[in-house]
Amino acid sequence: MKPYRLKRKRIARRRINRLFEMAEKMALEGRIELANRYVEIARKIGMKYLVRIPKQYKRRFCRECHSYLLPGENCTVRVKKKTIIISCHNCGNVMRIPFAR
Ligand SMILES: [Zn+2]
Repeated sequence: MKPYRLKRKRIARRRINRLFEMAEKMALEGRIELANRYVEIARKIGMKYLVRIPKQYKRRFCRECHSYLLPGENCTVRVKKKTIIISCHNCGNVMRIPFAR
């Protein structure tokens, strides 16, 4: 891959991380709408520059309706055997994330 493309990807990755940090901050302040906006922008950047959303952030928003998920606020997090089950209160989608060990 061409160097300038790699550089752009690096910048995109940094922006995605920053957006998720801000989304978390906003969600904790009760500004879910704004948090959702940040998630949307982060996703768009990811798609445009073909950058994957980092693993730790993937479970922070709903796979269906893309709303930012704040446990106890708009989603329920349960642990069953070796799976984390996150249910979105917005659209009712259930995500199952297996974890090792
Ligand atoms: Zn949802």
